[in-house]
Amino acid sequence: MGVRETARALAEIGLGEVYLLSRTEKRSSEREKSEPRAEDKDTLLRKHFNSFRDCTRCPLHRSRSQVVFGDGNPDSPVVFVGEAPGEEEDTQGKPFVGRAGRYLNQKIQEVLGLRREEVYITNVCKCRPPENRKPTSQEIRACFPYLRRELEIIRPKVICCLGATAGEGILGKTMPITKLRGKVFPYPYNPKIKVFLTYHPAYILRNPKAEGEFLEDLKKLRELIA
Ligand code: SF4
Repeated sequence: MGVRETARALAEIGLGEVYLLSRTEKRSSEREKSEPRAEDKDTLLRKHFNSFRDCTRCPLHRSRSQVVFGDGNPDSPVVFVGEAPGEEEDTQGKPFVGRAGRYLNQKIQEVLGLRREEVYITNVCKCRPPENRKPTSQEIRACFPYLRRELEIIRPKVICCLGATAGEGILGKTMPITKLRGKVFPYPYNPKIKVFLTYHPAYILRNPKAEGEFLEDLKKLRELIA
């Protein structure tokens, strides 16, 4: 997808302004289009994580036990992006290891035919918010450069945002997930990568009636990564 088509697709949902990149961002965006060698991804990710394991850039550093980095296969065609670590994730230092994570693993296996270790999973905020509250827009913005670099290294085919908070982190705008789910957008920093949005698995556990739509979305995701 070219820059104009990308800008048009994003403008249709009021996200055109994310394309107004600064000169520094443009340089970084060019770098995001160059392919890191597959064998270097593990090393690059390790170096990247080491660079912010003591981060105090936003208030969430006060409520965490540890920074929770992304986890999984860096050559995965899809990266799942959630909101922020919960209690179990904060304790174990891994994303999506609680009840919602187990549900997600099961559905990924059933619908996509992929095991958890075959995909890559991460969050927009890497530290646990107090009382598991939703991260604020400021916290999402503060943490986004870390996620952006993570995605730059992995360079998946599809970024699958789980819930509106993940969508806000990736697309830079707040919008109800009911309006965005099942839709595909270009990733603003590399239009070759598709952004797909669906519900957060924790929402499905609280609202089982939405499971049908969630499974429909996963089937669509399966086609996107085929
Ligand atoms: S959430 Fe992100 S920006 Fe905030 S302290 Fe943790 S690593 Fe740093």
